[in-house]
Amino acid sequence: MTIEEFAYDHPDRDVAAFKRAVANKLIYTVGKDPVAASQDDWLHATAAAVRDQLVERWMATTRANYKQDLKRVYYLSMEFLIGRTFTNALLALELLGTVKQALADFGVDIEAVTEREPDAALGNGGLGRLAACFLDSMATLGVPGMGYGIRYEYGMFRQRIVDGQQLETPDYWLTRGNPWEFQRPEVNYRVRFGGRVQKRDGHGEPYGAAHWVDTHDVLAVAYDTIIPGYGTQATNTLRLWSARATEEIDLSAFNRGNYMAAVESKNHSENVSRVLYPDDSTPSGRELRLHQEYFFCSASVQDLVRRYLRTHTNFDKLPDKVSIHLNDTHPVLAVPELMRLLLDEHNLPWDTAWAHTQKVFSYTNHTLMHEALETWPVEMMGRILPRHLQIIYDLNARFLASVAQKYGGDHELMRRLSLVDESGERRVRMAYVAVLASHSINGVSGLHSELMKQSIFADFAKLFPERFNNKTNGVTPRRWLAQANPPLASLLDARIGRGWRRDLNQLQALKPMAAQPPFVRAFRHAKRENKLRLANWVEQHMGIVLDTDAMFDVQVKRMHEYKRQLLNVLHVITRYHRILDEPDAPHVPRVVVFAGKAASAYAMAKMVIRLINDVGAVINNDERVGKLLKVVFLPNYSVSLAEVIMPAADLSEQISTAGTEASGTGNMKFALNGALTIGTLDGANVEMQQNVGAENIFIFGHTTPEVADIRAQGYQPRDYYDNDIELRRVLDAIRDGEFSHGEPARYQQVFDTLVNWGDNYLLLADYASYIEMQEKVDALYRDSDAWTRMAILNVAGMGAFSSDRTIAEYSHDIWHTKPVTLPAHDIRT
Ligand SMILES: *Cc1c(COP(=O)(O)O)cnc(C)c1O
Repeated sequence: MTIEEFAYDHPDRDVAAFKRAVANKLIYTVGKDPVAASQDDWLHATAAAVRDQLVERWMATTRANYKQDLKRVYYLSMEFLIGRTFTNALLALELLGTVKQALADFGVDIEAVTEREPDAALGNGGLGRLAACFLDSMATLGVPGMGYGIRYEYGMFRQRIVDGQQLETPDYWLTRGNPWEFQRPEVNYRVRFGGRVQKRDGHGEPYGAAHWVDTHDVLAVAYDTIIPGYGTQATNTLRLWSARATEEIDLSAFNRGNYMAAVESKNHSENVSRVLYPDDSTPSGRELRLHQEYFFCSASVQDLVRRYLRTHTNFDKLPDKVSIHLNDTHPVLAVPELMRLLLDEHNLPWDTAWAHTQKVFSYTNHTLMHEALETWPVEMMGRILPRHLQIIYDLNARFLASVAQKYGGDHELMRRLSLVDESGERRVRMAYVAVLASHSINGVSGLHSELMKQSIFADFAKLFPERFNNKTNGVTPRRWLAQANPPLASLLDARIGRGWRRDLNQLQALKPMAAQPPFVRAFRHAKRENKLRLANWVEQHMGIVLDTDAMFDVQVKRMHEYKRQLLNVLHVITRYHRILDEPDAPHVPRVVVFAGKAASAYAMAKMVIRLINDVGAVINNDERVGKLLKVVFLPNYSVSLAEVIMPAADLSEQISTAGTEASGTGNMKFALNGALTIGTLDGANVEMQQNVGAENIFIFGHTTPEVADIRAQGYQPRDYYDNDIELRRVLDAIRDGEFSHGEPARYQQVFDTLVNWGDNYLLLADYASYIEMQEKVDALYRDSDAWTRMAILNVAGMGAFSSDRTIAEYSHDIWHTKPVTLPAHDIRT
């Protein structure tokens, strides 16, 4: 039977047909009487009807990929921070108006239904959000690809603020079911742990196959989500793995009447996909993390090898048909796993297996921070993954032998290059495994890619210079402009057409419009609507009333010392003191907005959250300040909250210590939505300055080489404290309890970190230039036409920061993939 003979109802796209589809789903799929249906029921019924519209495209794309035998990209990532799917799917299908009307006819408000959808919080920050933007762009560009990750039952924790402090609570995102995923119980793989390696065949070949036996196994079961492209029929798949016990219960224990023990091992196995980022401050947390990483790498590599073998009889063409991309070091175990499969299960000789592996893998580095570079204790890896440790040892032996041959016995060099760190507790350096196995290693901004070659990978960059390259990050204009900012999107549509969604460089056409007063007014009007939307959110959720004439000054991102939310707080307190000192001066009113989660074991980051809330409580309730200054910390930062915050910002704070932020993508989202940036020359800020023009961005602070100099010369933060009266007053206020009345010593540690313990991130060294730049920001804001013109020029210059540009570069330079071609008649539109 062919697909043409297989009769089924093609879903129609008009309002009447869609109403019928939703009604059918509500009755037959959700099983609810419309008079009793809740908002959640309507969401599920509508989502199911919308999903139907995607399925034909999905099948057509899959069929075409097979037929055209295209090379596929497998994007392995521990995190996919995709947020909500409903509106995104409606925009991709151009169905928003239809569905809105259909629901309205049922007396259902589409916005209320949209708000019921939980975020898929399968990530913790920029790295996971990048993976989500990349999936969107790969589908839009027709790059045949698939995301592989973990279907965490509980995503990133939900943050509550109680008495000014972060409280972590579980995120039950799946309890009401997930209408977007397809469970594929038949797609499952055995993932093995522990046991021992039995034999390796001799014959003078030390690197042969081996048997891995007596393992403890867990099943990985696939769940698929359709990723629609925009303005194309092409779709891709996000395949997430969920852990299942290989045996439901321990029958003998069950028969003995020991019911709890009978399910214990089942629970233990299934813990593997329970939560994102188990607290890795404990040894058992770190072990669980290693289990998670191997779990999804193994399932994914088994799955892609199986897919390859469906249409090939040997591995000769593997490098022409398969690209595996490592999103940071978390999936690096895919390297020894592919080697293991090729050696032990498919009997390839070592050299062939390794040659294929090196052609297949590519790797993106996301941080230069020492503590974020993964290493695993040899002892732990040997216990949990004995065969993989052996493969890594074999790799290392061959690699170091080749280095010795080339450079003689430079033992210091060998020690530095070794995949195993031998100083102290022996540990496997996962980033080095990635570099050795990959034909391409990229950083995520021009600056970061250079620093990467000079610092963590300096020796490798000398050995393999041709492997290193840069791919500056980007964000998808579909979610971060079309979906998040309807007022600006419709203004753009009216003035420059709709093409910017697929070709963001078309924003350049806005440049001349910055000089046209009617456009400037319309642009400001759109910003005001977005500020009202955020102000409403804050009033509803926090009971704080914001003045939308005030400048919205925003810093939202993970809480981390290098991102320097604390420097922002120093500015806020400085402003507060200035208002008290000169109540009649013409102060520019500001609303300072923060949001972000702190890792649960990161005490200093949590302390900063508390300080922000304490400072807000004092300032917001000080009558002398009135409307001139408000400080709000919005709880539970997420993709859907970011969609409300970004379009409402006037000022975007991107103030990390130069040399620490690899790229940043929040910076791009803000500027794309018409915020001006105050920032350091760090990460992608450098390229944003080049693209929007140095006169249209507020750059301050020490540069990366200056930071290195200051450190080399022995940084003395106390000198700044001693010599700057205004700074001293701010720091003393923190230390002496101006914001923690009942407990003056609460922030002694914050003070000490900056003044007495070295101020690792150079807040005090950058303070004066930050304050000075904030004064320039105020001066410009007083001239609202000049401000708006500059904001328009920022939007006009952001074309380069579309993730479509980024993915086109990955595809051309790294993956060497061709887009799928879809015959127009294959699917009905
Ligand atoms: C964009 C984004 C980030 C990354 O922000 P940075 O400022 O680049 O650190 C983190 N979380 C969410 C929800 C985002 O949308």
